[in-house]
Amino acid sequence: MHENTNKIRLLVVDDDMLLRGMATRTLRHAGFEVLEADSGERALELFENANFDLLLLDVLMAGIDGYETCRRLRAMPRGLRVPVLMLTGLNDTASIERAYEAGATDFITKPIQWVLLTHRVRYGLRSASSAEAMRHSRESLARAQRMAHMGSWSFGVGGAMACSEELARIFGAPVEAMQCASPEAFLARVRDSDRERVGTARARVASDGQPYQLVFPIERFDGMVRTVFEQAEPLRDPLGQLVGVEGITQDITERVEAESQIRHLVLHDALTGLPNRDFFLDLAAPALEQASRNQAQCAVLHLDIDRFKSINDALGHAGGDEVLRVVAARLQTGTRGSDLASASRSGHTEVVARIGGNAFTLMLVDIGRPDHASTTAERLLQAVNQPIQVQGRSVQLTASIGIALFPRDAHDAGDLTRFAEQALYEAKKAGRARHSFFDEEMNAVASARLAREADLRRAIAGGELRMYLQPKVDARSGATTGAEALVRWQHPSKGLVPPGNFIPLAEETGLILPLTDWMLEQVVTLLGRWQREGLAPLPVSVNVAAPCFMADGLADQLSGLVRRHGVRPEQLILEVTESLLMSDVDRAVARLDLLRGRGFKLSLDDFGTGYSSLSYIKRFSIDELKIDRCFVMDVQRGGKDGALVASIVTLARMLNVQVVAEGVETEAQSLALRSLGCTLHQGFLYARPMPVEQFERFLEAASATVQR
Ligand code: C2E
Ligand code: MG
Ligand code: MG
Repeated sequence: MHENTNKIRLLVVDDDMLLRGMATRTLRHAGFEVLEADSGERALELFENANFDLLLLDVLMAGIDGYETCRRLRAMPRGLRVPVLMLTGLNDTASIERAYEAGATDFITKPIQWVLLTHRVRYGLRSASSAEAMRHSRESLARAQRMAHMGSWSFGVGGAMACSEELARIFGAPVEAMQCASPEAFLARVRDSDRERVGTARARVASDGQPYQLVFPIERFDGMVRTVFEQAEPLRDPLGQLVGVEGITQDITERVEAESQIRHLVLHDALTGLPNRDFFLDLAAPALEQASRNQAQCAVLHLDIDRFKSINDALGHAGGDEVLRVVAARLQTGTRGSDLASASRSGHTEVVARIGGNAFTLMLVDIGRPDHASTTAERLLQAVNQPIQVQGRSVQLTASIGIALFPRDAHDAGDLTRFAEQALYEAKKAGRARHSFFDEEMNAVASARLAREADLRRAIAGGELRMYLQPKVDARSGATTGAEALVRWQHPSKGLVPPGNFIPLAEETGLILPLTDWMLEQVVTLLGRWQREGLAPLPVSVNVAAPCFMADGLADQLSGLVRRHGVRPEQLILEVTESLLMSDVDRAVARLDLLRGRGFKLSLDDFGTGYSSLSYIKRFSIDELKIDRCFVMDVQRGGKDGALVASIVTLARMLNVQVVAEGVETEAQSLALRSLGCTLHQGFLYARPMPVEQFERFLEAASATVQR
């Protein structure tokens, strides 16, 4: 016992020397180290300079009394927690109360029971040390909670909530607010998407004692969204009865973000930010499943930059990296091209991945026709082939592509990738800078198509296109009121090729843009010449396909064109189809308004074959509707076609636009149309499309007839 207590130092404060001496002796005898003070002032002085484990303090003393001494002691930094036993008069409740108010830990009544004094002191020391231990563990618990961003909480059956400071911090609320929050208010912070799940789990702990662990997002009281991990267990009384729920809630936002960053790093190529091989396969699998359900065709393209090693050698690694980044960006833009967008009906996004040093894999979803993959491949090769500026130098690359088709060649992403790689070797072997299909037969189809594309490209640049004109006639007077310009291809070996044979290819390959430019130039040049020659102004229509109509700058291009040739914009009619307008109504409406604002006329071609409803037609600002030939064919028989034409005429009157019937071949059709109120006709009955000189002779002859 002596060893245990010999470090413990007590201070006995009493102005009564006898009592003080008795106490000191008794306690020293019990093994304590004891110092004495004969006044409050002296005690405070001693206390200032040394540590004591406990004070025995008399209440009634000369100078400052025991209460005041205790109060001052408590104000001293080391005096805050030291146990103080006050010596008070027997049964003097008033002074006992005052003692506690002054900060005493306990009291001992006089006369002192000397036998018990040592026990009272020991008891005082013990409870002080356990209070200290508890405070310490509470503090370290709070510290641990703070470090772990983990708050603890509990609900009693009564619904009252207790929570740690850290929990309040996690929820962005003051502790007091959190303490008086109801379990419902606590639950309300859980994001809508998960609230029911969390609520059910908490209810089950309370009802069945079923513990849970959950991760879910919360919206803090300050609006910030965080992710938390929560674990809860039943709270039981000593008899094992369920009395509530207790749990911990940990803010794991940083960890989750770090994990998602790591996941991104694991799944993406660091240089280009594109998915890597593993992720590509993950993305491809569900896309193929869906394609298989929709019976859609897909293609996997494996692209490899030709002779990349020499680029790296010439530019160094930094230069090589830059080149790869540029190529990656071009591939991403290239797969979003217009022909694919129109071919892809399901609106799937394409996937571009970097799967090796200078190799990329692309997945094209729902390509419509297998040979569309070939078109895209060629466009990608062209995109890669554009000069790249690196380190002040301009480099030009070529690449090769291997293509495997779904479902033709394989059904799963792994096989498709492998087959595309095999096809790539064929492309390399065949001389690089080209694409090759895994399937031999597809190669034949693709090369025939490529040849046709090259042929058409040459035709546009080499002056093989011809402009034909077909008159639009007022059937009542026989006067020509306008003309439609129709393209022909004067092929060196095939002769005159009709547009139906090459317009679709031109649209798929983007060649429709230079083709339309050529037609517009021809038409406006002709209008300019007529103007100069003093001929009556005759409006001419040009067919404008989707890519041209939607291309940026069309309005400016046309305005510039008519200005250069001194032609009024009203003389140029742009024919667009219903399906073009319907593919993106809002954009089409804006486009029509812009062009009409510039003075150009707009005509809705092949009307009746699309799916535009009345409500849309009302929004399209147009000048003319052209009734498709298929409704004209049987119009003389009345019936459905007759009724349809009649209603189109009524609609046109309502919208104040003119109606033209296309493909009028017989007098009977012409008569029927006129009786239905449609008087403007275009068709073989009046004239076939013809070259310009012939059209001019036709005009002369017609005007002579009309004059006569
Ligand atoms: P479209 O714009 O509806 O042109 C009317 C088509 O009907 C023309 O065919 C014309 O020759 C034909 N046609 C006119 N009257 C009759 C008739 O009485 N009977 C019959 N059976 N056919 C008649 P074409 O010239 O072969 O052109 C076909 C389509 O090709 C055009 O249909 C148009 O969609 C497109 N097209 C023609 N030229 C161009 C062009 O320069 N650019 C674009 N984007 N498309 C063009
Ligand atoms: Mg037309
Ligand atoms: Mg038409």
